[in-house]
Order: sequence, then C-alpha cells, then structure tokens
Amino acid sequence: MNEPQIPEIVEQADLQALNSLAVAAQAEFFCSVTTTEQLIQALNFANERQLPVTALGGGSNLVLAGDISGLVIYLDLMGISHQQLTPEQVHVSFAAGENWHSAVEYCLQQGWYGLENLSLIPGNVGAAPIQNIGAYGVELSDVFVRLEAIDTRSGLAVTMDSQACQFGYRDSIFKRSDRNHYLITEVTLALSTVAEVNIEYPALASALEGTDPTPASVSDAVCRIRRSKLPDPAVTPNVGSFFKNPIVDKQHLEQLTKDYSELPFYNQQAGDVKIPAAWLIDQCGYLGARVGDVGVHEKHALVLVNFGGSGAEILQLAAEIQAAVKARFDIALEIEPRIYGSPR
Ligand SMILES: Cc1cc2nc3c(=O)[nH]c(=O)nc-3n(C[C@H](O)[C@H](O)[C@H](O)COP(=O)(O)OP(=O)(O)OC[C@H]3O[C@@H](n4cnc5c(N)ncnc54)[C@H](O)[C@@H]3O)c2cc1C
Repeated sequence: MNEPQIPEIVEQADLQALNSLAVAAQAEFFCSVTTTEQLIQALNFANERQLPVTALGGGSNLVLAGDISGLVIYLDLMGISHQQLTPEQVHVSFAAGENWHSAVEYCLQQGWYGLENLSLIPGNVGAAPIQNIGAYGVELSDVFVRLEAIDTRSGLAVTMDSQACQFGYRDSIFKRSDRNHYLITEVTLALSTVAEVNIEYPALASALEGTDPTPASVSDAVCRIRRSKLPDPAVTPNVGSFFKNPIVDKQHLEQLTKDYSELPFYNQQAGDVKIPAAWLIDQCGYLGARVGDVGVHEKHALVLVNFGGSGAEILQLAAEIQAAVKARFDIALEIEPRIYGSPR
C-alpha cells in the first residue's frame, strides 16, 4: 500500500502574491495540499505542534492585518463530478480548489444552469460557502446541496447540508461559531438542465432589455457589468465589497428619509430595508479618497484599494469610514472580508 504523500511545509512563507489586496505578510508555516490525505497529514503536523490552522483559497476575501501564526493551508484539491438525478436536475460536485468562475463556465458548457448570475466572482469553490457568495439576485444557498469537510478538531470527514451551514446574507456558520473548525474539501450544487434565467436584478434587466435572454447571455451581461464597475485585483489590489450592505428597521428608515429623501433602499422581510453601503460612504465624501498608500476606489465607494500599504492601514481607513457613517447615519457598517494576523 502506498504511504500517503506528505505535503511540503515551508516556514515563514510570503503571502503577498496569495491575497488579492497584495498585502505583504508571512505565514509562520505554509503548505499546499492536493488530496484529503495530504490535508490530514498537514492537520497532524499542526496538531502535534498545537498550531492554529487557517484555510486559504484564492485569497480574495481576506485582509492580512499582519503575519499569520500557525499553519496556512492552501486547498488545491481539484476535480468535478456529476450525478444526473432526473432529466431536469443534476448534482455537480466540485473539489475545493476549483476556480469559481471556471466552474461556472464549465457548467454553462455542459448545459447545467443556475450559476450564471454568479459569473466572475473571484476565488475558489471551497470558499464559496463561507460567506454564501451572492451577486445579481442569486446566492450560493439557492443551489447548494451539501459540502464535505474535514473537522480540524477531530480530523474526521463530515458532510453538511444547507441547514447545517446556516446560510444568511454574506454569512454562514463558518463566519460565526464554527469559524476555522472546518476545512471544506468539496461542494455539491443542484443545477438545472432547463434554460431558465433570473434577471430580476435591475442592472441585469436593463442590460438585457429587448433581448431574449439565455443563461449564456446572462453570464456575458454579468461579466460586462462587473468589468465596468469593479477594479481588477491583478491591476488594482482589492477584495471586492469591503462592507456588507446594512439592514435597518422601518423606524430607522423613516428617521433617515426625513433628512435624506433620496436615500436608496431595498425592501427585505419583516419590513426591514437594505441600504447600499456604497451610497452611505459616498455621502460621507470617501469616494476616490486616498489616505497614504490605501484608498477608496474612484468608481465604487464600497471597494477599498491598496496602492502598496499594509493590511493595518486598510483596516484603519475602514475604521475611519465606519466612524463617519455611524456619526452621520447612526448605522454600523460591518466588514465583509475575514481579518487575519496581527501587525508586526
Ligand atoms: C473584485 C472582487 C469582486 C468580488 N465580488 C464578490 C461578489 O460579487 N459576491 C461575493 O459574495 N463575493 C465577492 N467577492 C469576494 C470573494 O471573491 C468571495 O468571497 C470568494 O468566495 C472568496 O474566495 P477565495 O477562494 O478567494 O477565498 P479566500 O479569500 O482564500 O478565503 C476567504 C475565507 O474563506 C476561508 N476558506 C477559504 N477556502 C476554504 C476552505 N476550502 N475551507 C474552509 N475555509 C476556507 C478562508 O480561511 C477565509 O476565511 C469579490 C472579491 C473581489 C476581489
């Protein structure tokens, strides 16, 4: 019988090229794993030394406030399989290291629909459940069936369905009580062979107005809109939306609209409304602002950009923006990406 391959563990590994904010930081220990056996070996290494473990995918939704102590594991597991359940429904399983947008494109080519609106979201499939990725009126939870993961506490494989993941708006159990308890190895989604499209999101509806939309044309439109609005992290380092869109209740909305009649909002359940955080930040004068080597993107107030600064500087600017929005609107903006490490 073959011995399981042991992953190469590197000490003081440079993470700058592995996070889309291009922040300079080091991992105390780093390894890349291509199989679950290697992943378990890596966990054994960490457990023997009582090191904390951090999972890394495409690095497009984290802020490195400083060096990361313990073992950072890049999940490079690859593979796609499917099971045709009925003529109309297929379950597709993606290994964690598959690139998200390539997975969307692959499904479109196979005639498996449901992911079009989530085209061009950076990162890997394994990270998609962490914040229940969403865009243009669709969230991962709309198509999610189950995930496979390794429990970092026991080293055992577990399967979790949608209910166990407790998905919410840019949220899941993995951002709350089970932060860092699970390393996701595979995600299974339910897709349709019927070419129905969802173009309820206003920007998408207007981009496709006068056409007979297909899943492929929806995906193309989403890519076009995203490229026109969002900076490419390879050119202008960023993590996409830095803050979640806040949800406020009816009384708070009434109070706000007395002073700001033009305040945009979207109705939610139970009379609550979601307010675009970008609008609030723009009102506070931060669109295009630059503070030292970090700033706010000139076209999108929700996107903080890095011109060569540190994660700590990014977080300082974020705190300044949060304070300004709180003072003016009495709204507490919540940071969307996960924060790791402490300043040197
Ligand atoms: C330009 C831009 C646009 C974006 N647009 C959107 C958008 O429209 N909608 C949206 O929802 N997000 C968006 N994002 C955020 C980001 O792309 C997603 O959150 C994505 O899912 C992150 O994937 P990743 O592989 O880069 O994760 P990483 O940044 O590597 O990790 C994010 C978190 O997930 C954890 N993690 C990663 N992989 C695993 C795993 N296998 N098991 C357990 N934990 C894991 C990490 O520890 C970390 O806490 C955008 C980002 C950018 C830069």
